[in-house]
Amino acid sequence: MRVVGFFGLICMEWIKHWLAQGMIKLFDLEQFDYNSISLTQEVLFSITDLARDCHPKEFLAFLGGSVKNKTLVIDKLLYQVYHASEDSAFPEMHLPTLSGCVGSVHSHPGASNRPSDADLHFFDKNPGIHLIIKEPYKPHHVMAYDSKGRKISFKIE
Ligand SMILES: [Zn+2]
Repeated sequence: MRVVGFFGLICMEWIKHWLAQGMIKLFDLEQFDYNSISLTQEVLFSITDLARDCHPKEFLAFLGGSVKNKTLVIDKLLYQVYHASEDSAFPEMHLPTLSGCVGSVHSHPGASNRPSDADLHFFDKNPGIHLIIKEPYKPHHVMAYDSKGRKISFKIE
Protein backbone atom coordinates (compact mmCIF):
# COMPACT_ATOMS: atom_id res chain seq x y z
CA MET A 1 0.00 0.00 0.00
CA ARG A 2 1.33 3.37 -0.91
CA VAL A 3 0.04 6.47 0.76
CA VAL A 4 1.36 9.89 -0.05
CA GLY A 5 0.29 12.22 2.68
CA PHE A 6 -3.43 11.74 2.90
CA PHE A 7 -3.67 10.36 -0.61
CA GLY A 8 -4.16 6.85 -1.71
CA LEU A 9 -3.45 6.18 -5.31
CA ILE A 10 -5.92 4.88 -7.80
CA CYS A 11 -4.91 2.31 -10.30
CA MET A 12 -6.06 3.18 -13.81
CA GLU A 13 -7.19 -0.41 -14.33
CA TRP A 14 -9.66 -0.19 -11.45
CA ILE A 15 -11.01 3.11 -12.60
CA LYS A 16 -11.60 1.71 -16.05
CA HIS A 17 -13.27 -1.29 -14.41
CA TRP A 18 -15.52 0.91 -12.30
CA LEU A 19 -16.41 3.10 -15.24
CA ALA A 20 -17.24 0.06 -17.33
CA GLN A 21 -19.48 -1.14 -14.51
CA GLY A 22 -21.16 2.23 -14.23
CA MET A 23 -19.95 2.44 -10.64
CA ILE A 24 -18.49 5.90 -11.05
CA LYS A 25 -20.28 8.94 -12.31
CA LEU A 26 -18.41 12.17 -12.02
CA PHE A 27 -20.29 15.20 -10.97
CA ASP A 28 -21.97 16.99 -13.83
CA LEU A 29 -20.56 20.49 -13.93
CA GLU A 30 -23.22 21.90 -16.19
CA GLN A 31 -25.30 22.94 -13.24
CA PHE A 32 -22.50 25.17 -11.99
CA ASP A 33 -22.31 28.74 -13.18
CA TYR A 34 -18.70 29.81 -13.59
CA ASN A 35 -16.62 31.69 -16.12
CA SER A 36 -13.10 30.97 -14.94
CA ILE A 37 -11.20 28.15 -13.31
CA SER A 38 -8.52 28.30 -10.71
CA LEU A 39 -6.36 25.67 -9.13
CA THR A 40 -4.78 26.10 -5.73
CA GLN A 41 -1.01 25.81 -5.49
CA GLU A 42 -1.44 23.05 -2.94
CA VAL A 43 -3.39 20.92 -5.40
CA LEU A 44 -0.94 21.69 -8.18
CA PHE A 45 2.03 20.56 -6.10
CA SER A 46 0.16 17.46 -4.96
CA ILE A 47 -0.34 16.60 -8.61
CA THR A 48 3.32 17.10 -9.53
CA ASP A 49 4.41 15.06 -6.49
CA LEU A 50 2.03 12.22 -7.22
CA ALA A 51 3.01 12.10 -10.87
CA ARG A 52 6.68 11.87 -9.95
CA ASP A 53 6.07 9.30 -7.23
CA CYS A 54 4.07 7.06 -9.54
CA HIS A 55 6.40 7.31 -12.49
CA PRO A 56 6.71 5.30 -14.72
CA LYS A 57 3.11 4.38 -13.96
CA GLU A 58 0.18 6.67 -14.45
CA PHE A 59 -1.78 7.99 -11.56
CA LEU A 60 -5.36 9.14 -11.58
CA ALA A 61 -7.28 11.12 -9.00
CA PHE A 62 -10.43 13.19 -8.93
CA LEU A 63 -10.63 16.93 -8.49
CA GLY A 64 -12.73 18.48 -5.78
CA GLY A 65 -13.90 22.05 -5.76
CA SER A 66 -16.71 24.55 -5.69
CA VAL A 67 -17.79 27.77 -7.33
CA LYS A 68 -16.93 31.03 -5.61
CA ASN A 69 -17.80 34.32 -7.28
CA LYS A 70 -18.19 32.70 -10.69
CA THR A 71 -14.82 31.02 -10.41
CA LEU A 72 -14.58 27.28 -10.18
CA VAL A 73 -11.95 26.77 -7.49
CA ILE A 74 -10.31 23.36 -7.51
CA ASP A 75 -8.92 23.06 -4.04
CA LYS A 76 -8.58 19.39 -3.29
CA LEU A 77 -7.89 15.98 -4.69
CA LEU A 78 -10.47 13.34 -3.99
CA TYR A 79 -8.82 10.04 -3.69
CA GLN A 80 -9.12 6.38 -3.26
CA VAL A 81 -7.29 4.61 -0.47
CA TYR A 82 -6.62 0.98 -1.08
CA HIS A 83 -4.94 -1.83 0.72
CA ALA A 84 -2.74 -4.03 -1.40
CA SER A 85 -2.32 -7.61 -0.35
CA GLU A 86 0.33 -9.97 -1.64
CA ASP A 87 -2.06 -12.57 -2.98
CA SER A 88 -4.48 -10.32 -4.78
CA ALA A 89 -4.13 -8.28 -7.91
CA PHE A 90 -7.32 -6.50 -6.96
CA PRO A 91 -6.91 -5.19 -3.44
CA GLU A 92 -9.76 -4.16 -1.26
CA MET A 93 -11.54 -1.22 -2.81
CA HIS A 94 -13.75 1.54 -1.60
CA LEU A 95 -15.52 3.75 -4.03
CA PRO A 96 -14.25 7.29 -4.04
CA THR A 97 -16.19 9.98 -2.29
CA LEU A 98 -17.46 11.93 -5.21
CA SER A 99 -19.33 14.69 -3.46
CA GLY A 100 -17.98 17.92 -4.90
CA CYS A 101 -16.13 16.11 -7.66
CA VAL A 102 -15.55 18.45 -10.58
CA GLY A 103 -13.21 16.44 -12.77
CA SER A 104 -10.11 14.30 -12.92
CA VAL A 105 -6.35 14.47 -13.19
CA HIS A 106 -3.96 11.87 -14.52
CA SER A 107 -0.36 11.66 -15.58
CA HIS A 108 1.23 10.73 -18.87
CA PRO A 109 4.65 9.18 -18.46
CA GLY A 110 5.99 10.66 -21.67
CA ALA A 111 6.30 13.88 -23.58
CA SER A 112 2.64 14.52 -24.39
CA ASN A 113 -0.08 15.94 -22.22
CA ARG A 114 -2.65 15.70 -24.99
CA PRO A 115 -5.59 13.38 -24.37
CA SER A 116 -5.48 9.92 -25.92
CA ASP A 117 -8.52 8.44 -27.63
CA ALA A 118 -9.29 6.58 -24.41
CA ASP A 119 -8.98 9.85 -22.48
CA LEU A 120 -11.36 11.60 -24.86
CA HIS A 121 -13.86 8.82 -24.38
CA PHE A 122 -13.48 9.12 -20.60
CA PHE A 123 -13.84 12.93 -20.70
CA ASP A 124 -16.93 12.69 -22.86
CA LYS A 125 -18.57 10.24 -20.48
CA ASN A 126 -17.61 12.30 -17.44
CA PRO A 127 -18.29 16.00 -17.93
CA GLY A 128 -15.91 18.14 -15.94
CA ILE A 129 -12.44 19.60 -15.90
CA HIS A 130 -9.76 17.12 -16.82
CA LEU A 131 -6.09 17.72 -16.18
CA ILE A 132 -3.20 15.86 -17.75
CA ILE A 133 0.40 16.22 -16.65
CA LYS A 134 3.34 15.05 -18.73
CA GLU A 135 6.97 14.42 -17.91
CA PRO A 136 9.00 15.76 -16.25
CA TYR A 137 5.99 16.75 -14.14
CA LYS A 138 6.66 20.40 -13.44
CA PRO A 139 3.72 22.68 -12.67
CA HIS A 140 3.72 24.10 -16.20
CA HIS A 141 3.38 20.60 -17.64
CA VAL A 142 -0.25 20.47 -16.53
CA MET A 143 -2.87 21.05 -19.21
CA ALA A 144 -6.62 21.33 -18.68
CA TYR A 145 -9.35 20.07 -21.00
CA ASP A 146 -13.09 20.16 -21.10
CA SER A 147 -15.31 17.17 -21.75
CA LYS A 148 -14.81 17.56 -25.50
CA GLY A 149 -11.04 17.52 -25.20
CA ARG A 150 -10.69 21.25 -25.84
CA LYS A 151 -7.90 23.04 -24.01
CA ILE A 152 -9.11 25.35 -21.30
CA SER A 153 -7.16 27.94 -19.38
CA PHE A 154 -6.87 28.09 -15.64
CA LYS A 155 -5.21 30.25 -13.05
CA ILE A 156 -3.06 29.19 -10.15
CA GLU A 157 -3.95 30.81 -6.88
ZN1 LIG B 1 -4.25 9.93 -20.67
